[in-house]
Amino acid sequence: MTVTAIVGANWGDEGKGKTTDYLAAEADIVVRFQGGNNAGHTVINDYGKFVLHLLPSGVFYPNVVNVLGPGVAVNISAFLEEIETLTRRGVPQPTLRISDRAQVILPFHLLLDEYEEERLDDLKFGSTKRGIAPFYADKYAKLGVQVADLYDEERLLARLKASLSIKNVLFEHLYHKPALDVEDVASALLQDGQRIRPFVCDTLPLLHGALAEGKRILVEGQLGALRDPDHGIYPYPTSSSTLAGFASVGAGIPPYAITRVVAVAKAYSSCVGAGPFVTELFGPEADELRRRGGDAGEFGATTGRPRRMGWFDAVATRYGCQVQGATEVALTLLDVLGYLDEIPVCVAYDIDGERVESFPNPAQLERARPVFEAMPGWKCSISNAETFRDLPLNAQAYVYRVEELLGVPIKWVSVGPRREAMIVR
Ligand code: GDP
Repeated sequence: MTVTAIVGANWGDEGKGKTTDYLAAEADIVVRFQGGNNAGHTVINDYGKFVLHLLPSGVFYPNVVNVLGPGVAVNISAFLEEIETLTRRGVPQPTLRISDRAQVILPFHLLLDEYEEERLDDLKFGSTKRGIAPFYADKYAKLGVQVADLYDEERLLARLKASLSIKNVLFEHLYHKPALDVEDVASALLQDGQRIRPFVCDTLPLLHGALAEGKRILVEGQLGALRDPDHGIYPYPTSSSTLAGFASVGAGIPPYAITRVVAVAKAYSSCVGAGPFVTELFGPEADELRRRGGDAGEFGATTGRPRRMGWFDAVATRYGCQVQGATEVALTLLDVLGYLDEIPVCVAYDIDGERVESFPNPAQLERARPVFEAMPGWKCSISNAETFRDLPLNAQAYVYRVEELLGVPIKWVSVGPRREAMIVR
């Protein structure tokens, strides 16, 4: 059994899309197991530059089956639009399957997300407004709608009535907005169900059959370890587990089948949305790193928001690798640091005058200050490096130091946004 999880070691935006697109060359199936179209996985390959929101990053290989597992939040229109965008831009029609147990983002989840952020005003969480938090809240309150319900009108109406009887009170009396009509919502959803019908199946036999045949499966996480609701920077996580451990549940595969966990870690830090961010930079230093970062600056792939920037945080990333159960690390965006004389690396935190090397709980994290050590820069472009030895010695030394701090082997070093800019060690 060979399942490889590709997951984030940081706050998200680590380059999981690029890493998955790269590793999918050797895969038969790629599965998304959590989150929805609030993701923004950037992939740059021979077809061009794409930002995938809901589709797994294996869609560029016609021989790969791409699966949305039961743990995913399915926005039906977004799903169909993404396929349309790919095929319009010359990508062969991908093979896609949606679990009949996955749940659907409902129109009132989007409205709730928007109204609640509006109500919270200055206290808002920085939601991407894709309905994700209300969706998962409903899922766990047993008020959700599964894809299979879209093919059973009576059941769908009953599910929607149960949910809307509460939502409409909130709409009218908390948010002072119009109530929604159950019949209208149901009729649109029934039509949506027909639009995705060819993709829907029970994905459990598909995945278990593939495992039995020794097929190679990748499970692709969204966001990063520090956004996990249990282990992350609560109350600023996303609403579904971002951990490889959850991939077993969200995809529907045996836990012991996941034998490799690739934690994707960034050579510096970035973070979208609110929450403590110990190595955060401000002013011109932040602006410069943001401008030079990513493939075209560090701006949210889904929202376009400027990302918060910081130096590499070994305390947070080591913890991220630990909670992911990382067996290997893909260190991305190393090329971005080529402009610096010296590169600060956060090796510990100072909390109330005490040096701390393990990642503290969120209450203590608010008081943590970074303790930096400086690594020498290499002051040149490394994007054409094909092997580790091609890298300048100072860039190699940076990788060795990060590896030592993380305690996990760095198997890949990414030196540019394109698929092929990947060094295997
Ligand atoms: P994901 O959500 O983890 O897939 O990450 P995003 O796509 O949100 O953000 C990663 C950004 O970094 C994108 O703009 C990528 O094109 C870019 N990227 C990925 N790897 C590299 C790299 O090694 N070097 C550079 N310069 N950009 C990279």
